Formats: sequence, structure tokens, C-alpha cells
Amino acid sequence: MRADEQVADLKARAPCAFEVDEVLAVIPSHWVHPEYAGSATAYHRTVIFECAATVAEDPAVVMAQQQRLLAKHQPEGQYRPLKADDPLYRGALNQLAAITLRITACRAKFKLGQNRPVAARKRVIEELRRRDRPNDARAADALQWTIDHPSPQEPPMAGDTLDQAKTKVTDAVDRLADDLEKISHQIHATPELCFHEEQAAGWLSAFLERQGARVERGVGGLPTAFRATIEGSGPGPTIAIMAEYDALPNIGHACGHNVIATAGTEAGAAIAAALGKIPFAGRIQVIGTPAEEGGAGKVRLMEAGVFEDVAAAMMIHGRCGTQVWRPTLGIIKVKCEFFGKASHASSWPWSGVNALNAMIQLFVSLDQMRQQIKPDARIHGIITKGGDQANIIPEHTASEFYLRAPSKDYCKELLRRFEGCAQGAATATGCRVTVTSDPTIHDPLKANFTMAELFGKNLERIDFPVDPDDGEAGYGSTDCGNVSQALPTIHPYIRISPDGIPGHSREFAEWAKSPLARAGMVAGAKALALTALDLVAQPEQLRRAKEEFAKTRG
Ligand SMILES: [Zn+2]
Ligand SMILES: [Zn+2]
Repeated sequence: MRADEQVADLKARAPCAFEVDEVLAVIPSHWVHPEYAGSATAYHRTVIFECAATVAEDPAVVMAQQQRLLAKHQPEGQYRPLKADDPLYRGALNQLAAITLRITACRAKFKLGQNRPVAARKRVIEELRRRDRPNDARAADALQWTIDHPSPQEPPMAGDTLDQAKTKVTDAVDRLADDLEKISHQIHATPELCFHEEQAAGWLSAFLERQGARVERGVGGLPTAFRATIEGSGPGPTIAIMAEYDALPNIGHACGHNVIATAGTEAGAAIAAALGKIPFAGRIQVIGTPAEEGGAGKVRLMEAGVFEDVAAAMMIHGRCGTQVWRPTLGIIKVKCEFFGKASHASSWPWSGVNALNAMIQLFVSLDQMRQQIKPDARIHGIITKGGDQANIIPEHTASEFYLRAPSKDYCKELLRRFEGCAQGAATATGCRVTVTSDPTIHDPLKANFTMAELFGKNLERIDFPVDPDDGEAGYGSTDCGNVSQALPTIHPYIRISPDGIPGHSREFAEWAKSPLARAGMVAGAKALALTALDLVAQPEQLRRAKEEFAKTRG
């Protein structure tokens, strides 16, 4: 049609290009990565046709082209030839254009996994030949071609060096995976609570040291913190990969920190093992950060200056899906105590002042307040002391609450309203109340899409699928939020369980030692290592990440 955008576009820019994507074979991913269950890898060829376009709006030319096409594609005839005087076509003919595309060049691009180790490619070829479905033989031939024609060693350019370094590092992650999975299971079987992660910190730091990293133990005044450094070719930026390894009380590694620990450690260990020294200016560090669950270890390390020279930081967290960006909430932690008066609960109850009643009243008031708070805010607590014995009117009760919201300001608003509820409960029962808020406020995560995008591209490079956000689950919190407010940081989630398994549950603890957890550890380690390499090798990417950090509000 005359008004057609495509026609206008072709007239304006006669040389054009078309891409035709041809899938050579779709194979189960576990042929390439034995630990990936369920996903698929496509080997495909994209053919790019560069064409010169000619657009003619002359009805005679349109008619001639129509005749030619019909004669070619309907050789048996029986069509109504297009004629200028045919009342059916007369109006339409004036609207039509004849487009001729002359192919001036034709190129093909392959996605064949040339970066995978030769052994992996051979295994895939073997499977393709055995399966022998349509196109499998062509994919096998094409893949064989990549083995027979290894890319020649060209003089190193920055891009090539980075690409080669990435290939070496991902191969090293695969080599180290068995050892790190063992450590992951050891940590899982030996859950250590915040600030007491002696064994985990010991195993992880020793492993990094064996692979050639320089390890400092007890950094920032925390005995279970460590820092492992892999130096680059000269002075430059420091990129930190964070590793958490603390467990939860009673339910063990129900947050999967054994996977965070080993993925972060494996990223650094693979860089050290594969490259020795990083071929770019700067350095990469693995920082062992204790006490995420309840101790805000990263805040302590920041206060002690451990992150002072860090230009950008990253970590992964296990989840029931892979998302490069997901928000977290800020938290104010509060302790609330009521003080009453003890008395015999049966013979002199009127002489007592019941601190448990005040506590129950506080919970009831908070439940009512919950109707008038914003949907993403959360208030939840436990009674840590409810009394001593049933025949004594409780004189002292204590509780702990987390007040969470997507912004620090709204957390403070919740605290103000919490204090009102506590005061009201004290007045109603005649008790005295104290509300003590923890001076460390957990900040919500500040996004860095520049780094998240690099991380996503690296997941793509290793064929690890990213999931759509489930939309159903709410948000958690992390002391990594405070790091993200101080410097460009990412905290992507990696799948280590099937959909819908909540964190901090006994089911999630089981999944944290499953084959899916190993796949998440390996993918997390690769994507962390590759993203850290991107940031030291490409100063413009780090500059973009810093610019984004400077102009976004938390
Ligand atoms: Zn947790
Ligand atoms: Zn966690």
C-alpha cells in the first residue's frame, strides 16, 4: 500500500538487510552442562541477506510482477490474471507497489557453542549423531567444523583477551565444581549462626588460598570475616564479590547461604586458578561477610573500612527463580518490653499489673494498624519472654519486631506508629514500656541496571535461563542493601529450587543441597566471575555503573 511504512522506508533507504533464523537443532541442556535439568539449548544459524530494494508504483510494473509470481508459484494455472480494467482490481492496483529485492551479499552467523570445551562439543556431536533427527546431522557437522577449524591465535586485543579470559574462567568453574559442591554440603551439614561461622570461613578461605588468592582472615575486626585478593596487571579498580555463610536458628541453611558462600568463593577461586594474575588493571576480591541473618555483618565491615576501596560489589542469592533484579525492603529492628507487678495469679490477682496482657494488647493493636499501612510494608514479631510461671502475674515481658518497608522513610513512619501502639498498650494495662530500636537500619537495595545487565548477558553466555518474576512473593531484606546505598552493587537471584518454594522454610533448606543448588552455584560462580572481569577489563562499563549510581536515588 502507498501509505505503508515499509514501502516508505525501503524508498528512503534502498540498501536493506533481512535476517532469517534457522534452528539447526534443539538439544537438552544437560548434554552440554550435566547439571542443568529441564532446559534446552538451541544451535542455530542466522543468514543475513543484504539487499538493494527498488520500489515501483507503476500499475503496469505491479501487474507484470504479479503475473511472474503467480506463474512461478502456481504453475498449474487457474488464477484470475490481474488486469487494469478488471473492476475487482482497478482500485487496488493504484494502491500497490512492486518491490524488487536484489541480494547483494549473504552472510551467516552461527551459534554453536564454540566457547565450550572441545570435550563438551564432542559429547554433543555424539549425541546428535545418535539421535539422528531432521537437522541433527547438519548441526553435528557444523559443530564438528568448529573443532576442525579452531580460531587462529590473533594478536591480543582487549576484546579478545577478555573473551579468552572468560572462557578460561568458566572452564575453571566447571573443574572446581565438585570440590565446591562438597564444601557447600559440609556448610549445609554444619549450620553456624551469625558471627560463629568459624568452620565455613575456614573452609572457604583455605580453598581460595589453595587456588592462588592472597587471603586475609578476620578483616574488619570480625573473626569470621575474610578477604581474598586476586591482583591484576597494575593499579586500577577493586571489584568485590561477597560471600555469606551464616545459617538460621533451628532451620539451618533455609536461606541457602551455603550456595552464596560457594558460588562467591568459586568465582574468585576460578579466576585465580585460570588466570593467576588478572590480565587487566585492578583487582578482584572475594569478601567473606558473616552474619547476614540478624547481625548486619556487612554494615560492620563497611564501618571498619573493608569496602573503602571497593568500586563495585556483587553477590548472588539462591531463590525459587532466577532474576537479575528484585527489590528488597528496609528494616528497623525493635525490641519492646513491658514492666508490670508480680502477684499471686489466684489469691491476689488485683494486686498485680499484667505485663503479658500489655504484650497481647500490642499484638492486637499492630494487627489493627496493619489495615492502614502500605501493601509492601511488613510488621512481624515474636514474644521472647511471656512470663515465668502460670501462677505468677507476669511482671516482665519482652518481644522483638521487624518493621519493613520499601523506603527508609516509611520504616521510620512505622516505628513512630509502633511506639504509639506500645504506649497505648502500656496505658491500657498500667504497665511501663520501653521501645528500643536497633541503631543499624537495613537499607532497601538500590538498583544498578548497568551491572545487572552485564550479569544478565553473562547468564546468557553460559545458557542459564532467567525467569520472569513470579509476582506472587513479597520481598525480603538484606544487609547488602546498605552496601548498595554506598557503592554500585548487584544482588541477583539464582534458581536453586522449583517455583513457589519459600525461603526460610524446611523445604528450601532441603533444596539448598540438591542438584538444582549445584547448578545454581555453578551458574552463579560463572556469572559473578565474568561480570567482575567485565568491570575490570572495560573501564567504560564501570564508569557507566558509577554514573547510574550517582544519579539514582536509593
Ligand atoms: Zn534469609
Ligand atoms: Zn539470605
